[in-house]
Formats: sequence, structure tokens, C-alpha cells
Amino acid sequence: MDLTWSAEEEAFRAEARGWLTENVAAWRAECGGAPASGDTREGFAQHLRWERRLFDAGWAVVSWAPEDGGRGSSLWEWLIFEEEYHRAGCPPRVTQNGIFLLAPSIYELGTPEQRAGILRRMAAGDDLWCQGWSEPNAGSDLASVTSKAERVEGGWVLNGQKTWTTRGGFCTHLFGLFRTDPDSARHKGLTYLLVPLATPGITVRGFGRLDGDEGFAEVFFADAFLADDAVPGGVVLGELEGGWAVAMATAGSERGLTLRSPGRFLATAERLLALADERGDGVLRRRAATAWMHADAYQQHTLATVTKLAGGARPGAEASLTKLWWSELDVELHEISLDLLGPDAELVGPWSKGWQFALSGPIYAGTNEIQRNIAAERVLGLPR
Ligand SMILES: Cc1cc2nc3c(=O)[nH]c(=O)nc-3n(C[C@H](O)[C@H](O)[C@H](O)COP(=O)(O)OP(=O)(O)OC[C@H]3O[C@@H](n4cnc5c(N)ncnc54)[C@H](O)[C@@H]3O)c2cc1C
Repeated sequence: MDLTWSAEEEAFRAEARGWLTENVAAWRAECGGAPASGDTREGFAQHLRWERRLFDAGWAVVSWAPEDGGRGSSLWEWLIFEEEYHRAGCPPRVTQNGIFLLAPSIYELGTPEQRAGILRRMAAGDDLWCQGWSEPNAGSDLASVTSKAERVEGGWVLNGQKTWTTRGGFCTHLFGLFRTDPDSARHKGLTYLLVPLATPGITVRGFGRLDGDEGFAEVFFADAFLADDAVPGGVVLGELEGGWAVAMATAGSERGLTLRSPGRFLATAERLLALADERGDGVLRRRAATAWMHADAYQQHTLATVTKLAGGARPGAEASLTKLWWSELDVELHEISLDLLGPDAELVGPWSKGWQFALSGPIYAGTNEIQRNIAAERVLGLPR
């Protein structure tokens, strides 16, 4: 095992660091020094300008093929980029559900036409994708989705409702699970559809999160006609009625690698150590150091994951263990920051805002109770 970076990788890091540091400062200045949250309408527009800046310089999706807007970097270089991204204090990616969730499934299961027609526009922020899986009665139990797609001449008629659709109110497209066999139950008879939100019969209603940002939407489908060619290469991703397998491929990369890379937590852990130096007593400094080690352990774990993936493995049920680790780590890091800040933590600032969002980590991407069930049954082989 060689844990050192090569000269080329170090050069890649230096280039990324230089560009990110300079450009994030320029973008912040453009936003008057204090960009709004990307989960508000105003902030989303500001963040899109940042996405465009990344894309134009070839930094939006470094590990993708050049024809799709990337620079063909290795997964290790992507990890380095992510470290530098968060170290430089760059903003959350408002394109994340497209580039980190849908795109890996398009690479794995999409047709060449879907890849050519969808990925580059996604990377450029021309098309903005949201995830339409959860429904009012299908969250943890995703296999009970009831939104339907009925086959008609030239396309599908969609009916039903999705909820908790992150940034749905600001997006242009949705990738969702729909029941295409009306007589089916549970995991069978579901199809993964790619849906332009401007389709007549679709209503998107944004609503506020607990922190006040309009980060969520409900999406209603009322006899919405989705033409087969509404998306380049066709609206079905993967096999017809094989939607569950596609969804599990998406969930594997979401939980196990792409959505929350170690760079995010390493950067937070470094900031926490600085805060602990400034304000902590012995006990709090020790807790901060322990949390930093947990972030470092996540980094080491991810290097092992990437080594397996580069060798041809697919993310499997182990992704659930990874998700447990990063979501609990985020809560740990932020809780310590609030203890360090004491009464000052009540003033809304980056640490308290980060803590509020960290609390949702054990819920999104599949709740941690469900991840424990998956790990117990499918990794450890325990009985149901
Ligand atoms: C910040 C955030 C962003 C999100 N973004 C999206 C998005 O973009 N698109 C999307 O489709 N969804 C999104 N979601 C929804 C998310 O996927 C669901 O909230 C999640 O899957 C849980 O479903 P639920 O809310 O219906 O809770 P429920 O499924 O009703 O669960 C309630 C509680 O019961 C527990 N529970 C349920 N079943 C079991 C079981 N079998 N064993 C043990 N415990 C169980 C759960 O762990 C949980 O604690 C988002 C959620 C959050 C918080």
C-alpha cells in the first residue's frame, strides 16, 4: 500500500488550489461579499454563476470524460479536488443531485445517446436535476411508491406526488421512480424515468425547511404526458421495470462515495481544531482532536473504497456503513463547535447553520436506522 501522492497528483492539487482560491474570492466579491444560501431562490442564482465559472474552467466534474465537460481525471484526483474545494471554502454544489447522484447511474446504465445528450448540459448547469423518489407514504419504505406512469402512444402519462424534493423549485428536470406495471407490488414493476419539470400537468410547489430556506418542494403529476423523446436518448434510464436496480445503483454511489467526500469533513475538522485552539479547554480540545481523527479515518476508508472501484468493483451494501460514518461525523464535528462557542453558538453563523443541516444527515440518503438494517442483513448476514 502506498499512501503518498505522485508528482502528477501533487501538480494537480497545486493547480486546483490556485484556481479555487482565486476564483472563490472573485465569486464572493461578485455576490457582494456574502452569497445567500443556495437553498434560497436568490442564492441559487448566485450559486449557478459559481457553477458556470467551474464549468468554463473545466473544474465542474473533473473525473468525467472531456466530451462530457470533465478533464478525465482519476477518482484519486477527484478526491484531491474535493479536498481543495472544501479547504478553499467553496460553496455547496447546487448541481449535486445531478452530478453526484444521477450522473454515475447514467455512466453505468445509460445509453450513449443519454450520456451525450444529458451529461454535458448537467455539468454546465444548463439542466438542473432533482431527485424524485420520496412520496408522502414512501420514504424509508421506498418500494411502496405509488406514483404511476401509464404507457400510451408515444410516451407515458404520469400521476401521483413526490415530496422532500431538494431544490425542486429551482430545478428543470427530475429523475424519479414510477410504477409502470399497475398490478405490481413492492420492488417489481418500477421504472426510473427522466422528466422535464416544464411538462404540462406537473406542478412544483416549493416549501420551507426548518431553517427557513425554501430548500424543498412537492411535485404533483396530474395526467402529465411525458413523450418518449422528452429527454435526449429517451426518458427511461436502465431497463423498463428495472427501476429498482437503477435506484440502488444511484443510492450506492450517493451513500458510499460521491455525495459526501472526505474533503468536506477534513476541512470542517481543520476549522474545528482552529476554533478549539482559540476557545477550548483541555476536554474540548481533546474532543476536537478525536473528531479530526474520525475525519481522517473516513479519508483512509475512502482511499480503500476508490481502490476497489478502480479495480472494477461496484459500490454495494457496504455503502450503508460509509453513510453511517459520514453522517454521524458531521453531527459530531458541529456539536463540538457549539460547545466551543458556548452562548455565542446561539447567534446564527456558519457553525450553527452547519449544525442544523448536519442533523438532517442521519435522515437523507436513507435514514441511519435503515442503513443499520442493510448493514446487519446484507453486510453481516444477520437474520431479518
Ligand atoms: C435534507 C433532506 C433532503 C432530502 N432530499 C430528498 C430528495 O431530494 N429527494 C427525495 O426523494 N427525498 C429526499 N429526502 C427524503 C428522505 O429520503 C426521507 O426523509 C427518508 O428516506 C426517510 O423517509 P420519511 O421521511 O418518509 O421517514 P419514515 O420512512 O416515515 O421514517 C420515520 C422514522 O422511522 C424509522 N423507520 C422507518 N422504517 C424503519 C425500519 N424498517 N426499521 C427501523 N426504523 C425504521 C426511520 O428511520 C425514521 O426514523 C430528503 C430528506 C432530507 C432530510
